[in-house]
Amino acid sequence: MTRTAGQATPDVRRHNLRALLRHLHLHGPCTRTGLGEALGLTRSAVADLVAELTRRGLVTESAAARATTAGRGRPSLTVAPDGRRARVLAVDIGVDEIRMALVGLDGSVAATTVLDQVPEPGDPARTLDRLAQAVDGFTAGRTRPLAVGIAVPGLVDGAADAPDGGPSVVSFAPNLDWHQVHLADELRRRVRLEMPVRLGNTCNVAALAELLHGAGRGHRNMLYLYARVGVGAGIIVDGRLLGGPGWAGGEVGHMLFAPGDRPCRCGSSGCWETEVGGDALLRHAGLPAGRGHARRARMTELLERADRGEPQAVDAVTALAPAVATGLSSLQALLGTELIVMGGLFSHVLRHARGTLEDALRAGRSRLGVRRETELLPAALQTGAPLLGAAEIAVEAFLDDLADTAP
Ligand SMILES: [Zn+2]
Repeated sequence: MTRTAGQATPDVRRHNLRALLRHLHLHGPCTRTGLGEALGLTRSAVADLVAELTRRGLVTESAAARATTAGRGRPSLTVAPDGRRARVLAVDIGVDEIRMALVGLDGSVAATTVLDQVPEPGDPARTLDRLAQAVDGFTAGRTRPLAVGIAVPGLVDGAADAPDGGPSVVSFAPNLDWHQVHLADELRRRVRLEMPVRLGNTCNVAALAELLHGAGRGHRNMLYLYARVGVGAGIIVDGRLLGGPGWAGGEVGHMLFAPGDRPCRCGSSGCWETEVGGDALLRHAGLPAGRGHARRARMTELLERADRGEPQAVDAVTALAPAVATGLSSLQALLGTELIVMGGLFSHVLRHARGTLEDALRAGRSRLGVRRETELLPAALQTGAPLLGAAEIAVEAFLDDLADTAP
């Protein structure tokens, strides 16, 4: 579809504005000619859109030395996101800590900070006050971010009055004991800034980060699995995150695995996570599960010992492998995905028991007559993934806003 600037209706122009900036964000600097080819736009349409984005301080243009000569002998200008002015604020609310970063539309991370307070279980208002204070301090004297993306360890949902506007409410975060927290609205109110704020489940946004910047680069389909105390996933189908109604997809830790067996923190019993999550690891090591920080510290220490090759610790990690393998085999049959990326505790299981996992996947494929391989890779970004993923949902929120409000 080719349109000139003169023919474009306001709707089409806004759509193209969004598409062009998104292309630059995902693929990096590009010549005007390249943008026209990638987006199916005429030279004059690209010129009009680039002029509008430049006016808004979102892109810069330069005559790159390597730019090809296009058209009537004129050098093609290279367009790039303005990473110094066009930035989003990424927030990762973890169970133990809150981290923030300013991330440019060009992917550059301008500044990162870790808040010295941890989230308050059961007291979202107090956490929000501290977060708002930290956002004010962090962004003071800097270019105002275009949007905010927040990764939260729980279920997120759209507001009842704007269900299609993207997730803005934490419906339930078990480890924080938060219920129906209007996080986006409350933060906007506290920092008195009119900018889009979007939420995403930690595993979901980490999957986006791995797809765009990590182990999933170049793939269109990917299953991202992350285990720490609990087990979560992000499912990418045809380049997009599979959210499902209420963005509740990917709760693979609560697939029924051995009904009637061990009680799960979700209230059910026999969920996959009771056999492959953090408690299972500690159980195999003969250590008490405990709770909170003590449990996480115990897990970290055990995994470090396994990495050093201590036989007892390695045995505890590999003892998880058969149950991990069975779950992987089911997920492969369900999704038929070409790539499974494993983060957190699962990356350790992959390191110490790759053979067990690959055998199960191969057997599953041969039962179904599937010849295409499923690749298993450790996550590339690890602890940085939720923060980078939060930046991605912030960019999406800004682009949606741009498409809605541009003249
Ligand atoms: Zn469960």
